This record gives sequence, C-alpha cells and structure tokens, in this order.
Amino acid sequence: MSPEDEARRLDESDPLPTLRGEFLVPPAPGGAHAEAAYFAGNSLGLQPRSVAARLREELDDWARLAVEAHTQGRRPWVGYHELLREPAARLVGARPHEVVAMNSLTVNLHLMMASFYRPAGTRTRIVIEDPAFPSDSYAVASQAVHHGLDPAEAVVRLKPRDGEDNLRTEDVLAYLEREGDAVALVMLGGVNYLTGQLMDMPAITKAGRAAGAVVGWDLAHAAGNVPLRLHDWDVDFAAWCTYKYLNSGPGAVAGCFVHERHVRDAAVPRLSGWWGTEPSVRFRMDPDIAPPASADAWQLSNPPIMALAPVLASLEIFDRVGMDALRGKSERLTGYLASRLAPAVAEVITPSDPAARGAQLSLRVRDAGGLVRRLAEAHGVVADAREPDVIRLAPVPLYCTFHDCHRAAEALVDLL
Ligand SMILES: *Cc1c(COP(=O)(O)O)cnc(C)c1O
Repeated sequence: MSPEDEARRLDESDPLPTLRGEFLVPPAPGGAHAEAAYFAGNSLGLQPRSVAARLREELDDWARLAVEAHTQGRRPWVGYHELLREPAARLVGARPHEVVAMNSLTVNLHLMMASFYRPAGTRTRIVIEDPAFPSDSYAVASQAVHHGLDPAEAVVRLKPRDGEDNLRTEDVLAYLEREGDAVALVMLGGVNYLTGQLMDMPAITKAGRAAGAVVGWDLAHAAGNVPLRLHDWDVDFAAWCTYKYLNSGPGAVAGCFVHERHVRDAAVPRLSGWWGTEPSVRFRMDPDIAPPASADAWQLSNPPIMALAPVLASLEIFDRVGMDALRGKSERLTGYLASRLAPAVAEVITPSDPAARGAQLSLRVRDAGGLVRRLAEAHGVVADAREPDVIRLAPVPLYCTFHDCHRAAEALVDLL
C-alpha cells in the first residue's frame, strides 16, 4: 500500500471520524489539492459552519428587538454568558461556578494577578517558563512594577537545561522545593506555545501550592487541545483564549477559571465592575457591590454578545465530541505525523512522549519563514514560522486528517 493509501485507510478506519465537514477549510494557497492542509489551528482555529447562523440570530434579535433583546431575545443577552458556563466547565474540568467567559486572555491574566499576585515580605517572585509567550512576559513584568518591584529580580524564568528544548518537570519541582519560600506566584503555560510541550500540571500545581505559592495556568495552547481537571488538580486560577484550538474566531472572548475555595472567600481583593455584582441587584444601581460566589464576580463589563456567539457555537462541538475522544484522535494524528518525519527529515523539538505533548510538532529548520512560504505555495500546506528557526504544525483532531499529515510529510521531504 502506498503511504497515501495508508493515510486514507487510517482516515476511514479511525474510531473518531473527522468533523472536517463542519468547518470552513480555506482553499490551498498553492499545489495540486483544492483545500489547504491546515496546520495553523494552534494560532487561529478554522471557522465552524455553525457560527454564521448563530451570529445571524443575534444580529436579527438586535434588529427586531433592539434594547428589549436583553430580556426578550431568543437567548436573552443579560444572561448570555451563562450559556457558556457549563460547556466551558466541562472543557476544563471545573465546576460550573468556577468558570466565566470574558475579556481576552491577557486581560484575564491581569485580573487574576490583581487578585492572586500579592507579594509580601520576601515572598515576591513570579515563576514563568522560558520561552514564554511575549504577552505573558510583559504581563508579569508589569505586575512586578505595579507592586514597586524590580522585574529583573521578581520574575524568574525557568529554562530548559543546556542543549535541551523542553523544561523538565523535575527541574521545576526542584526549584520550588529550593526557592519556594520566595515564590508568590507560579504561572506557566500548560502547553508551551513554541515547543508544544504539555507540562505536568497536577505535579507542578501540587508542588507550588505546597511551597506556599499561588498556582495559575495560562491555557492558551491547552484548552481544547488536552483534557484538563482544573478543579481536581487544585489549580488556583487559569485563563485561556478561544481562537486557537477552540475555533471561536480572531480575538474571541477568553475563558477564566477561579477555584471554588477563592470564589467563596470574601477576603480576596479584586478589581470590580457592574457585571461582577449579583444579577438580581445589578440594576438597582446600588453603589455597594454584592459579588456572587462564582467566577462571575471577576466580570467587569456587560459582555460582547456578537463575540460570545461563536464561542457558544464552538463549545457545542466540543461538548458533542468530548475532550477524551478528541485527545485520543489527537495522539493518533500527531503520532502518525511524527512517524512520517522521523528522524531523517527534520529535528523535532516537541517531546517524543505522546503524554508530554499536545496536537503539535515543532521542527527546527533553517529559514523558518522561507520554508513556511514554500510549504504553502508549492504544496498548499499551512504551517507557521517562529523566526529564526522553528516551524510549528498542529494536526488539530477536529478537522485535520491523516491525509493532511501525509501531505505535510511529503511536502517537508520534498523541501528539506
Ligand atoms: C496566544 C497566546 C496569548 C495571546 O494573548 P491575547 O491576550 O489573547 O492576545 C497569550 N499567552 C499565550 C501563552 C498564548 O499562547
């Protein structure tokens, strides 16, 4: 059997048939195939076909009912964000009152740090990873400055060992054991944006909390990619965007998790706005806030309905398929692509252990930008470059196929 036939056979026999037909796959930018083999879903997920109808309904309610749609719409806007609560909670392994859809990711990280990064005495440090996504680096440095601290001292960046690309869990745990007294906050990415490494979130959360620190997770590359159990892992807080694996559109509304022990704690300080008060008293216009015992207490503004509609449509797909089934397919797809690239074709910097990576392979190459351009123009394979020398390929299990992986492998063999 040719490798191409083998890939088609894998697509036909997989226990989770592809949901590609539910997404709008862009045309191939070049090459012999009509559709792109789209591997950039870790940057911007594809549009579910169900989104347009969802948006049209809200536009229609706005047209028909205007202000009355807040209470009379088919999905009344005053409580619209509530519709996302349960599916979002299932997605990240939370109790419903621990999650809320609001703002964007970096904003939510700041709101969480306003509540949970409270440096005191010699316990001042924020631990992140290196490489961290730039927004996270800027956010933690600015939080340190906000508290009158020098970020060069307050922000600790844990790096992989010399000659290695991934952070070892044992090294994170050893740091927390050794220096934990000085750490106020541990805030790593659950899946690293550059390498695709899946961190051992339960072990690091446990160690950070045992050291007396608060542990928050940036789940930008983890939500919708790997199963999460935020409540059971005892995570203090988490935040994620929804435009990557969650396919909710550019700049879509983000998610936020606050552990139940904090939502019940009236002593936790937070930055507040009118959407963070009890809905039953919100319109009394009382100057004193009455926050609910839920993550909703962190909401500031009335939510953007047009931006929430795609998130709702997308969460319905995740609910229908289930993260565990998706993870199974994700491991099969990523494993297949890895086997086709092994080791002759390219140096893969993503961990080779399937349990230590998500739906991503990162390759170290020469001239990443040029390679990504040639992959698109000559083969219709859409990947992304992190200059100078890394390209990332995300075999997203909802809409990528084994045949797409075959195309990517053939294209890389051709170009490298
Ligand atoms: C994608 C990503 C961001 C983006 O932040 P926005 O506030 O959504 O623009 C931040 N952090 C990480 C780790 C990311 O992967």
